[in-house]
Amino acid sequence: MKSIKQRFWEKVDKNGPNGCWIWIGTKSGGYGYFRSTKMTLVHRYSWELHNGPIPIGLVIGHKEFCRNKGCINPDHLICYTPQENNSESDGIYFIRRNKTHCPLGHEYSEANTKFYRNKRHCRTCIKMHNDFYNKIKKIIKME
Ligand SMILES: [Zn+2]
Ligand SMILES: [Zn+2]
Repeated sequence: MKSIKQRFWEKVDKNGPNGCWIWIGTKSGGYGYFRSTKMTLVHRYSWELHNGPIPIGLVIGHKEFCRNKGCINPDHLICYTPQENNSESDGIYFIRRNKTHCPLGHEYSEANTKFYRNKRHCRTCIKMHNDFYNKIKKIIKME
C-alpha cells in the first residue's frame, strides 16, 4: 500500500518551465487535486506539507512570476488574506506590502481597485478568490 505522500509525489513533475513543479494528475479548472483523506487541492496540500496547516481565513495562491494553477512548488505559493487589510497582524503573510500593489503583485490601478469599508481591495484577487471557491465547490460535489 502506497502512502498518501508517495501517491502525491508520483504525480509531480519537478522539471516544469520557470522552476514550476507541475501536477500531472487530475485537474479541475487548472487546479490539481487528489484524494488524501478527502478530496484535496494539491497546491494547498503542498503548502501544508512544507509550512504546516494553513491559518484559518487565509488562502493559497500562486506568485506573480508563476501564475501556473497546476504548480505546487512551495516557493511559488503564497499564503495571503483574500482582501487587503490594514491591520498589522496580517503583515507577516504578505511578501510585499507597498501601496501600489496588492499582496499578489497586481497593480492598484483605478480599474483594478475596489473601495469597500474604506479599504482597498484588488479586483483581480477578488475574482481569483471567487473562481477558486467555485472550483472547490465543484470538486467537493464530485466526491
Ligand atoms: Zn510555479
Ligand atoms: Zn491582487
